[in-house]
Amino acid sequence: MNIVKGTRRVINMKTYKTETIVRETIDKIFCDICGEDMLAEFNKSGLLYDDCIISHKYAHDYDYDHADHHEFEPDICPKCFQSKIIPFLKSIGLNTEYKYEYR
Ligand SMILES: [Zn+2]
Repeated sequence: MNIVKGTRRVINMKTYKTETIVRETIDKIFCDICGEDMLAEFNKSGLLYDDCIISHKYAHDYDYDHADHHEFEPDICPKCFQSKIIPFLKSIGLNTEYKYEYR
């Protein structure tokens, strides 16, 4: 039997109360190149995921796990990635073929 009393409910000798939880969520992600709000664009286009990671690892010995590791994660929207980053990478001779991974 459920007893509703104020914001408390009693179900099988357990009491439940209603509480409000405040949490922080990402509201906007601005593209570092064009300044557009990427989340608004994702919501319009249905794109669920976009990430850009530029990474460089180097070491002075064979202990790869303790190598110096620098990682740079710019926020770049898909339009800027295709219109600015890919042409630049091609201009310096890099192969920009995508490698697809299906899981
Ligand atoms: Zn952009």
